[in-house]
Amino acid sequence: MTKDKLALYGGPPVRKSYLPYGKQWLDPDDIQAVMETLKSDWLTTGPRIDRFERAIARYVNTTYAVAFSSGTAALHAACFAAGIKPGDEVITSPLTFAASANCVLYVGGSPVFADVDLKTYNISPSSIRALINEKTRAIITVDFTGQPAEYEEILKIAKENNLIVIGDAAHALGAEYKGAMVGSLCDMTMFSFHPVKHITTGEGGVITTNNALYYEKLKLFRSHGITRDSDQLIDHPGDWYYEMQSLGYNYRITDIQASLGFSQLNKLDTFLKKRRDYADAYNQAFEKLEGTILPYQSKSTLSSWHLYILRLDLQKLSVDRALIYKALQRENIGVNVHYLPVYLHPYYQKLGYQKGICPQAEAIYHSIITLPLFPKMSQQDVEDVIHGVKKVISIMKK
Ligand SMILES: *Cc1c(COP(=O)(O)O)cnc(C)c1O
Repeated sequence: MTKDKLALYGGPPVRKSYLPYGKQWLDPDDIQAVMETLKSDWLTTGPRIDRFERAIARYVNTTYAVAFSSGTAALHAACFAAGIKPGDEVITSPLTFAASANCVLYVGGSPVFADVDLKTYNISPSSIRALINEKTRAIITVDFTGQPAEYEEILKIAKENNLIVIGDAAHALGAEYKGAMVGSLCDMTMFSFHPVKHITTGEGGVITTNNALYYEKLKLFRSHGITRDSDQLIDHPGDWYYEMQSLGYNYRITDIQASLGFSQLNKLDTFLKKRRDYADAYNQAFEKLEGTILPYQSKSTLSSWHLYILRLDLQKLSVDRALIYKALQRENIGVNVHYLPVYLHPYYQKLGYQKGICPQAEAIYHSIITLPLFPKMSQQDVEDVIHGVKKVISIMKK
């Protein structure tokens, strides 16, 4: 095949309509659930929030779940509950969405970036260990693409050094590590319900935990730091009375969103199966495709496949990632890049983070593309992606 076959150079694209990299799946029963809430007495602070939280806690096998207006708000709350304060250091992965580190800044702490493993792209336990000092208070793990981090080793390091572990599992609802549900492993774990994630509430997030003290702090933080709970009140002049005991926010989720989340959760296992099947199809299709490297899966983990990331073997290709990306976009395959290492963002550069502190994350960043992967994709969509990738890569080979 010659280059002029590429849509980039005027050839016909592999599909007519644009396929995004991720998207929600809503059914009539999801819409019905929202309609019922709209007709009910409670749009917010009502019983559907509690029901959704209990369902999430049951699903991931924890005692508590506290839902928030976004995953980012949930991470902020987790840092508050963990007691992170100015002067504290929190170790996290650079290969993630900015919110995994921003939450540390929100409470005045300093994010410290530990490099990732070249195979799993997850935070490497040995690089965590090397960064621990007397200021270190916590580790924020990221289950990148849905593959759980190396929890056995990370939890051991945390225990030895008296650190709190917060899991950013925005990619990993339904994932398992050595048979345990992600969400049940860390001191606190966050899931996001943004439309590209496994289930959606529009915007929304949750923290799961087994710790009653964190649970109380999370609830307080979500609602202005205000409590009406008679067990917690310092004074009690009458039943009208409430107290603001710490500085909190309005980070509440609504009952409208919680009813959507509850309805979506019923379908999570179907969604996960589709994601896993499509990832298998990509693995089979690209296994022998020269110029690409498949996403490695550790034997200890069962991924929830939020993202399918194909790594380019740039030495075997005649062009860089930017051109492969552009060529696939022109074929109407909505590829993406996850992520620019957090500390390379201009805001972090201004804070003084140096380029090159996590060389493996930077090398990975320059050679990855995210392929479309979401349960609502049809078999034909999957085939289009396979066809598009094979077409572009084989033409761009050296
Ligand atoms: C989506 C995401 C978040 C933030 O969640 P929101 O619900 O969008 O605020 C945080 N971390 C990671 C890794 C994410 O993918």
